[in-house]
Amino acid sequence: MKTACVICQEEVELYDRADHLMVKHPAPVGGFKFWFHGEAYYTDHPSMLVLEILRVVNCSAAYQFWEERLDGDIPLSHANAVDLRREPRFYAVPPATF
Ligand SMILES: [Zn+2]
Repeated sequence: MKTACVICQEEVELYDRADHLMVKHPAPVGGFKFWFHGEAYYTDHPSMLVLEILRVVNCSAAYQFWEERLDGDIPLSHANAVDLRREPRFYAVPPATF
């Protein structure tokens, strides 16, 4: 199964995704930085799945994940790959309980 790299849009086999990211998009010194609830996190991965980020930041996978954007925040699902090269800011909120 192939998937498009979120960074360069190249089609890569799913099992090659980690290698592709490491070779084509190597981490800067100190790693890629992203923010979650105002706290800085660092990773060697230029791109991660939302589910992987939730694990890294120790957040419940039941939460709705959002990326803060100047033009309006966007909700992301667990299978979405996010680009971590420009210090993105994320947050998560508990599932709605109406
Ligand atoms: Zn790529």
